[in-house]
Amino acid sequence: MTKTILITGGSRGIGAATALLAAAKGYSVCISYQRNHTAAAEIVDRIREEGGQAWAYQADVANEEDVLALFQTIDREVGSLNALVNNAGILEQQCRVEDLDTARLQRILMTNVVGTILCAREAVRRMSTQRGGTGGAIVNVSSIAARTGSPGEYVDYAASKGAIDSFTRGLAQEVAGEGIRVNAVRPGFIYTDIHASGGEPDRVDRIKANLPLRRGGQPAEVAQAILWLLSEDSSYSTGIFIDVTGGR
Ligand code: NAD
Repeated sequence: MTKTILITGGSRGIGAATALLAAAKGYSVCISYQRNHTAAAEIVDRIREEGGQAWAYQADVANEEDVLALFQTIDREVGSLNALVNNAGILEQQCRVEDLDTARLQRILMTNVVGTILCAREAVRRMSTQRGGTGGAIVNVSSIAARTGSPGEYVDYAASKGAIDSFTRGLAQEVAGEGIRVNAVRPGFIYTDIHASGGEPDRVDRIKANLPLRRGGQPAEVAQAILWLLSEDSSYSTGIFIDVTGGR
């Protein structure tokens, strides 16, 4: 039976790579995007050209109404959801704690933490075997920043990813008896546009010589870990974290 997956923020970067790999593995793929309809439509077209099934829906994960509408639309137009990748996330300009303002903190926490929890809630409501669902798998995209704390760069972003790690651990245990596995990946330095938002587009190239594998990662390398955690190959793993960090 074809499985249906939702990948938030799936129009570019790690989310887009995950969407393409999921389609190649036979999933029916739903991606959500915040603004860039053209980029999302291109991912959908690429999947359909390869003979796969894909849909793109606009939704700001930080907005509860958008999240509710996203899941209801998938219920109606695609069918029951088997897998969720909580990938949507933001980073802001590097700055020290003295310069953080509340608006920025709200943006980071609403997107990275609240968005992840809201989407997981909607997925659990549908997947739980205690609610008539057939189970499923969730992967949250954390960051190596959850472990390092990113001092002097973005402690707020690191804290938001630390919250995702705690949430992953707790939720995995909470829903283990309902046929749902919850795991996370912690990417390190991956070539995506997120570093431009952090104010340093070439960050990966600056840092790569200091990484044990001496290079930055590709989005597809993170996607491989995500798809493994979603697959039956990891059927006895829940509440675990895979660091995709070039050995850092
Ligand atoms: P990216 O900026 O290319 O992708 C982020 C995606 O999230 C974009 O599609 C964006 O539109 C979407 N998004 C942001 N805010 C949203 C919102 N409110 N609602 C819906 N979608 C929203 O960067 P990426 O590197 O592919 O990031 C994917 C995930 O990987 C993020 O959670 C990020 O924190 C995490 N991550 C990335 C790296 C890295 O080095 N690239 C390292 C660690 C963790």
